[in-house]
Amino acid sequence: MGSFQEFALSRRVQQAIDGMGFEEPSPIQAACIPLVLAGRDVIGQAQTGTGKTAAFGVPLIEQVSQEGRVQGLVLTPTRELAIQVAGEFRKIGKFKRVRTLPIYGGQSIGHQIRALQQGVQIVVGTPGRVLDHIRRGTLRFDSLKTVVLDEADEMLDMGFIEDIETILRETPEHRQTMLFSATFTPEIKRLAVRYMKDPEHVTVNRGEITVPLTDQVYYKVLERNKLESLCRVIDSEEVQLGIVFCRTKRGVDELVEALVARGYLVDGLHGDLSQAQRDRVMRKFRTNEVELLVATDVAARGIDVDNVTHVINYDIPQDPESYVHRIGRTGRAGKRGLAITLVTPREFKLLKQIERETKTAMVSREVPTLADVA
Ligand code: ADP
Ligand code: MG
Repeated sequence: MGSFQEFALSRRVQQAIDGMGFEEPSPIQAACIPLVLAGRDVIGQAQTGTGKTAAFGVPLIEQVSQEGRVQGLVLTPTRELAIQVAGEFRKIGKFKRVRTLPIYGGQSIGHQIRALQQGVQIVVGTPGRVLDHIRRGTLRFDSLKTVVLDEADEMLDMGFIEDIETILRETPEHRQTMLFSATFTPEIKRLAVRYMKDPEHVTVNRGEITVPLTDQVYYKVLERNKLESLCRVIDSEEVQLGIVFCRTKRGVDELVEALVARGYLVDGLHGDLSQAQRDRVMRKFRTNEVELLVATDVAARGIDVDNVTHVINYDIPQDPESYVHRIGRTGRAGKRGLAITLVTPREFKLLKQIERETKTAMVSREVPTLADVA
């Protein structure tokens, strides 16, 4: 693969990329960056963990001028992802001193309005809050040149389609538009046809980065022993930093309570928590104050925490798409990860379906006995 030098980026952006330790562009970056720099609209389709953020972030930041007006808008499905993308943009734009602001619901709007008045160049936000600012007249798009829809499939799943279309109609017609998504559904296609100009469709095949680095195993468990089995698996697998997935919010709360009672350092993440609570949980997880994060699918979307060693499906995901999203939380950026799925006899058919559709083979492991764990 090539090097970032081939894109002939400005010195300050190249320097920031070097500082981030990115030695060579990932496949999606190698494909997207030159197209975006050439002014094309781009649809980037790739699994989680393939480096999509820099695929749009590098050319966007490269193109931003010093003018203190909003020139780039990135829409993301969740607040966590907005914060994370803005964080990555700050790193890429560090030497160029590009001002990026995340805006999302749950945070004081007054605070965001004041921050916007300071002369922000790139806004990364969730659709609802972005629309709120547009309606208040506190976010103006006169100088907007580029719009990015990140995790477009997730945004549509979460029911943001109307907000997204309203926002797009508020942006200048001659803008450049990028759309990133793990899947390319008919709804996404419709959005692209309506709002993009002759887009180049770049696909990076499933798993070019994620899957080889993530080993996938399953444990057959009985419903009534599930908690006990989970604990033995955690102990024997030497989980350092793990995300445990549950199907429901209530399941998350119950599992957190049970694991805390057994002495694990664990916290939970789901949609009923306040923004302050979510931020606190994510901070503790990022700084390894807790070793296990128990989460629902929605809450865990887009979370990019380095060094997640294990993803554990306590409740098996209901479809292959969700499986791919979950396991994309580990095995990132060249680090190995292990994806573990607990499966009850009833769910075995679903497991086989996931294997078939994701074209992977999971290895079966036995739940260790008490003696093994000790
Ligand atoms: P995606 O949006 O496709 O899920 P991200 O953009 O979040 O993926 O990137 C996943 C991880 O890979 C991040 O930790 C990011 O810093 C890292 N990364 C991205 N591009 C590179 C690269 N070219 N070299 C090394 N690490 C990279
Ligand atoms: Mg992403």
